[in-house]
Amino acid sequence: MWRKVRTAILLLVLIGVAGHTWRDKVTTQSWKDTLWVGIFPLNADASPTAQQYIAGLKAEDFEPVERFFERESRRFGVLLTHPVHIELYPQSSELPPELDPHAGPLGVAWWSLKLRWFAAHAAVAPDRAPPRIRIFMLYHDAATLQSVPDSHGLQKGLIGVVHAFAEPAMAGSNNVVIAHELMHTLGATDKYDLGTGAPLYPNGFADPDRRPLYPQRRAEIMAGRRALSARDFEMPQNLGDVVVGPGTAQEIRWTRR
Ligand SMILES: [Zn+2]
Repeated sequence: MWRKVRTAILLLVLIGVAGHTWRDKVTTQSWKDTLWVGIFPLNADASPTAQQYIAGLKAEDFEPVERFFERESRRFGVLLTHPVHIELYPQSSELPPELDPHAGPLGVAWWSLKLRWFAAHAAVAPDRAPPRIRIFMLYHDAATLQSVPDSHGLQKGLIGVVHAFAEPAMAGSNNVVIAHELMHTLGATDKYDLGTGAPLYPNGFADPDRRPLYPQRRAEIMAGRRALSARDFEMPQNLGDVVVGPGTAQEIRWTRR
Protein backbone atom coordinates (compact mmCIF):
# COMPACT_ATOMS: atom_id res chain seq x y z
CA MET A 1 0.00 0.00 0.00
CA TRP A 2 2.67 2.49 1.08
CA ARG A 3 4.69 1.60 -1.99
CA LYS A 4 1.71 2.48 -4.25
CA VAL A 5 1.09 5.75 -2.42
CA ARG A 6 4.77 6.60 -2.66
CA THR A 7 4.78 5.86 -6.40
CA ALA A 8 1.64 7.97 -6.95
CA ILE A 9 3.11 10.92 -5.06
CA LEU A 10 6.35 10.56 -6.94
CA LEU A 11 4.52 10.55 -10.30
CA LEU A 12 2.55 13.68 -9.42
CA VAL A 13 5.67 15.53 -8.34
CA LEU A 14 7.52 14.40 -11.46
CA ILE A 15 4.73 15.71 -13.70
CA GLY A 16 4.81 18.98 -11.77
CA VAL A 17 8.53 19.46 -12.24
CA ALA A 18 8.58 18.39 -15.90
CA GLY A 19 7.53 21.84 -17.13
CA HIS A 20 10.15 23.47 -14.96
CA THR A 21 12.80 21.08 -16.27
CA TRP A 22 11.95 21.84 -19.88
CA ARG A 23 12.31 25.57 -19.25
CA ASP A 24 15.66 25.00 -17.49
CA LYS A 25 16.93 22.96 -20.44
CA VAL A 26 16.01 25.65 -22.97
CA THR A 27 17.63 28.40 -20.88
CA THR A 28 20.86 26.57 -20.10
CA GLN A 29 21.39 25.45 -23.70
CA SER A 30 20.70 28.77 -25.41
CA TRP A 31 24.23 30.21 -24.77
CA LYS A 32 22.87 33.74 -25.05
CA ASP A 33 23.48 34.83 -21.46
CA THR A 34 26.20 33.99 -18.95
CA LEU A 35 25.21 30.97 -16.84
CA TRP A 36 25.59 31.59 -13.11
CA VAL A 37 26.98 28.61 -11.29
CA GLY A 38 27.06 28.56 -7.50
CA ILE A 39 29.64 26.57 -5.54
CA PHE A 40 28.37 25.57 -2.09
CA PRO A 41 31.24 24.13 -0.01
CA LEU A 42 30.48 21.49 2.61
CA ASN A 43 32.63 19.64 5.11
CA ALA A 44 31.86 16.03 4.13
CA ASP A 45 33.65 14.30 7.01
CA ALA A 46 33.52 16.98 9.72
CA SER A 47 37.33 16.98 9.70
CA PRO A 48 39.51 19.95 10.75
CA THR A 49 41.49 19.49 7.48
CA ALA A 50 38.40 19.97 5.30
CA GLN A 51 37.29 22.85 7.50
CA GLN A 52 40.61 24.63 7.15
CA TYR A 53 40.60 24.06 3.40
CA ILE A 54 37.07 25.44 3.00
CA ALA A 55 38.00 28.51 5.09
CA GLY A 56 40.81 29.24 2.63
CA LEU A 57 38.71 28.85 -0.54
CA LYS A 58 38.49 31.84 -2.87
CA ALA A 59 36.36 32.44 -5.96
CA GLU A 60 39.62 32.54 -7.98
CA ASP A 61 40.20 28.86 -7.16
CA PHE A 62 37.38 28.06 -9.60
CA GLU A 63 38.39 30.48 -12.37
CA PRO A 64 40.00 27.69 -14.42
CA VAL A 65 36.47 26.28 -14.90
CA GLU A 66 35.29 29.63 -16.32
CA ARG A 67 38.33 29.83 -18.60
CA PHE A 68 37.78 26.23 -19.76
CA PHE A 69 34.21 27.03 -20.86
CA GLU A 70 35.39 30.24 -22.57
CA ARG A 71 38.21 28.57 -24.46
CA GLU A 72 36.29 25.47 -25.53
CA SER A 73 33.03 27.21 -26.48
CA ARG A 74 34.99 29.61 -28.68
CA ARG A 75 36.45 26.66 -30.60
CA PHE A 76 32.88 25.67 -31.49
CA GLY A 77 31.92 29.18 -32.57
CA VAL A 78 29.89 30.23 -29.54
CA LEU A 79 29.90 34.04 -29.56
CA LEU A 80 29.18 34.55 -25.86
CA THR A 81 32.48 35.78 -24.37
CA HIS A 82 31.75 34.67 -20.81
CA PRO A 83 29.54 31.56 -21.02
CA VAL A 84 29.91 30.49 -17.39
CA HIS A 85 30.35 32.55 -14.23
CA ILE A 86 31.29 30.79 -11.01
CA GLU A 87 30.28 32.27 -7.72
CA LEU A 88 31.48 30.98 -4.34
CA TYR A 89 28.76 30.83 -1.68
CA PRO A 90 29.19 30.53 2.09
CA GLN A 91 29.63 27.11 3.64
CA SER A 92 26.48 25.40 4.83
CA SER A 93 26.25 22.55 7.30
CA GLU A 94 23.59 20.15 6.04
CA LEU A 95 24.85 17.43 3.68
CA PRO A 96 22.89 16.34 0.58
CA PRO A 97 21.05 12.98 0.58
CA GLU A 98 23.30 10.07 -0.36
CA LEU A 99 22.56 7.84 -3.34
CA ASP A 100 22.63 4.13 -2.52
CA PRO A 101 25.04 2.64 -5.11
CA HIS A 102 22.61 -0.30 -5.53
CA ALA A 103 19.50 1.87 -5.97
CA GLY A 104 17.12 0.83 -8.76
CA PRO A 105 15.42 3.31 -11.13
CA LEU A 106 12.71 4.16 -8.57
CA GLY A 107 15.33 4.63 -5.87
CA VAL A 108 17.34 6.95 -8.11
CA ALA A 109 14.20 8.97 -8.97
CA TRP A 110 13.34 9.26 -5.28
CA TRP A 111 16.91 10.32 -4.43
CA SER A 112 16.92 12.97 -7.17
CA LEU A 113 13.68 14.43 -5.79
CA LYS A 114 15.14 14.50 -2.28
CA LEU A 115 18.23 16.18 -3.71
CA ARG A 116 16.11 18.87 -5.39
CA TRP A 117 14.26 19.43 -2.16
CA PHE A 118 17.59 19.67 -0.32
CA ALA A 119 19.00 22.11 -2.90
CA ALA A 120 15.91 24.31 -2.70
CA HIS A 121 16.44 25.06 0.99
CA ALA A 122 20.18 24.40 1.49
CA ALA A 123 21.37 26.65 -1.32
CA VAL A 124 19.88 29.84 0.03
CA ALA A 125 22.28 32.67 0.83
CA PRO A 126 20.72 35.88 2.15
CA ASP A 127 21.62 39.03 0.17
CA ARG A 128 23.05 36.94 -2.67
CA ALA A 129 21.48 36.37 -6.07
CA PRO A 130 20.58 32.69 -6.46
CA PRO A 131 22.61 30.87 -9.14
CA ARG A 132 21.01 29.00 -12.04
CA ILE A 133 23.10 25.88 -11.38
CA ARG A 134 24.05 24.70 -7.90
CA ILE A 135 27.18 22.65 -7.25
CA PHE A 136 27.56 21.17 -3.78
CA MET A 137 31.26 20.61 -3.10
CA LEU A 138 31.81 17.94 -0.46
CA TYR A 139 35.37 18.19 0.82
CA HIS A 140 37.07 15.19 2.41
CA ASP A 141 40.31 14.88 4.35
CA ALA A 142 42.66 13.09 1.93
CA ALA A 143 44.43 11.34 4.82
CA THR A 144 41.33 9.34 5.75
CA LEU A 145 40.29 7.81 2.44
CA GLN A 146 41.85 6.46 -0.74
CA SER A 147 39.22 7.67 -3.18
CA VAL A 148 36.19 9.90 -2.83
CA PRO A 149 32.61 8.68 -3.50
CA ASP A 150 31.17 9.14 -7.00
CA SER A 151 30.15 12.65 -7.99
CA HIS A 152 26.88 13.40 -9.77
CA GLY A 153 25.49 16.04 -12.09
CA LEU A 154 21.75 16.23 -12.78
CA GLN A 155 20.22 18.06 -15.71
CA LYS A 156 16.83 17.76 -14.00
CA GLY A 157 17.11 20.31 -11.22
CA LEU A 158 20.47 21.69 -12.42
CA ILE A 159 22.33 20.29 -9.43
CA GLY A 160 25.82 18.89 -9.08
CA VAL A 161 27.22 16.95 -6.13
CA VAL A 162 31.02 16.86 -6.29
CA HIS A 163 33.17 14.89 -3.88
CA ALA A 164 36.64 16.39 -3.62
CA PHE A 165 39.83 16.12 -1.62
CA ALA A 166 40.56 19.04 0.71
CA GLU A 167 44.09 19.29 -0.64
CA PRO A 168 45.67 22.24 -2.51
CA ALA A 169 47.51 19.89 -4.88
CA MET A 170 44.14 18.42 -5.93
CA ALA A 171 42.49 21.76 -6.76
CA GLY A 172 43.21 21.28 -10.49
CA SER A 173 41.69 17.81 -10.71
CA ASN A 174 38.78 18.90 -8.48
CA ASN A 175 38.06 21.54 -11.15
CA VAL A 176 38.06 18.81 -13.81
CA VAL A 177 35.34 17.01 -11.82
CA ILE A 178 33.36 20.26 -11.39
CA ALA A 179 33.49 20.88 -15.16
CA HIS A 180 32.44 17.28 -15.85
CA GLU A 181 29.43 17.40 -13.51
CA LEU A 182 28.53 20.89 -14.75
CA MET A 183 28.49 19.45 -18.28
CA HIS A 184 26.04 16.76 -17.06
CA THR A 185 23.68 19.45 -15.78
CA LEU A 186 23.82 20.97 -19.29
CA GLY A 187 22.84 17.66 -20.92
CA ALA A 188 26.19 15.99 -21.69
CA THR A 189 26.51 12.20 -21.28
CA ASP A 190 29.44 10.13 -20.06
CA LYS A 191 31.94 8.98 -22.69
CA TYR A 192 33.79 6.27 -20.81
CA ASP A 193 33.16 2.59 -20.22
CA LEU A 194 31.15 2.47 -16.99
CA GLY A 195 32.72 -0.88 -16.10
CA THR A 196 36.41 -0.15 -16.66
CA GLY A 197 36.55 3.66 -16.79
CA ALA A 198 38.29 3.53 -20.19
CA PRO A 199 37.54 6.42 -22.58
CA LEU A 200 35.20 5.36 -25.39
CA TYR A 201 36.48 5.68 -28.95
CA PRO A 202 36.02 8.03 -30.78
CA ASN A 203 33.83 10.41 -28.70
CA GLY A 204 35.78 9.99 -25.46
CA PHE A 205 39.09 10.85 -27.13
CA ALA A 206 40.44 14.40 -27.30
CA ASP A 207 42.19 13.62 -30.57
CA PRO A 208 40.63 10.53 -32.17
CA ASP A 209 42.54 11.08 -35.45
CA ARG A 210 45.98 11.16 -33.82
CA ARG A 211 48.51 8.73 -35.37
CA PRO A 212 49.71 6.84 -33.52
CA LEU A 213 46.51 7.00 -31.48
CA TYR A 214 48.31 6.48 -28.15
CA PRO A 215 49.22 8.17 -25.96
CA GLN A 216 46.53 10.82 -26.13
CA ARG A 217 47.94 14.14 -24.94
CA ARG A 218 44.67 15.42 -23.54
CA ALA A 219 41.36 14.12 -22.20
CA GLU A 220 37.82 14.67 -23.41
CA ILE A 221 35.80 16.21 -20.55
CA MET A 222 33.04 13.57 -20.49
CA ALA A 223 35.55 10.72 -20.65
CA GLY A 224 37.39 12.36 -17.78
CA ARG A 225 40.62 10.50 -18.55
CA ARG A 226 43.19 10.47 -21.29
CA ALA A 227 44.11 7.15 -22.85
CA LEU A 228 47.82 6.31 -22.61
CA SER A 229 47.33 2.96 -24.35
CA ALA A 230 44.39 0.69 -25.15
CA ARG A 231 44.42 -0.41 -21.51
CA ASP A 232 45.92 2.46 -19.52
CA PHE A 233 44.37 5.82 -18.86
CA GLU A 234 44.88 8.61 -16.37
CA MET A 235 43.00 11.53 -14.96
CA PRO A 236 44.29 14.95 -16.05
CA GLN A 237 45.67 17.17 -13.29
CA ASN A 238 43.99 20.32 -14.55
CA LEU A 239 41.61 21.64 -17.20
CA GLY A 240 44.52 22.78 -19.38
CA ASP A 241 44.80 19.15 -20.50
CA VAL A 242 41.08 18.73 -21.21
CA VAL A 243 38.98 19.50 -24.27
CA VAL A 244 35.31 19.31 -25.24
CA GLY A 245 34.78 16.84 -28.08
CA PRO A 246 32.26 17.31 -30.90
CA GLY A 247 29.87 14.75 -29.36
CA THR A 248 29.68 16.66 -26.08
CA ALA A 249 29.51 20.02 -27.90
CA GLN A 250 26.44 18.80 -29.76
CA GLU A 251 24.74 17.50 -26.59
CA ILE A 252 25.07 20.86 -24.84
CA ARG A 253 24.08 22.62 -28.09
CA TRP A 254 27.31 24.46 -28.80
CA THR A 255 26.78 22.98 -32.25
CA ARG A 256 23.44 22.16 -33.82
CA ARG A 257 22.66 19.63 -36.49
ZN1 LIG B 1 29.78 11.57 -15.54
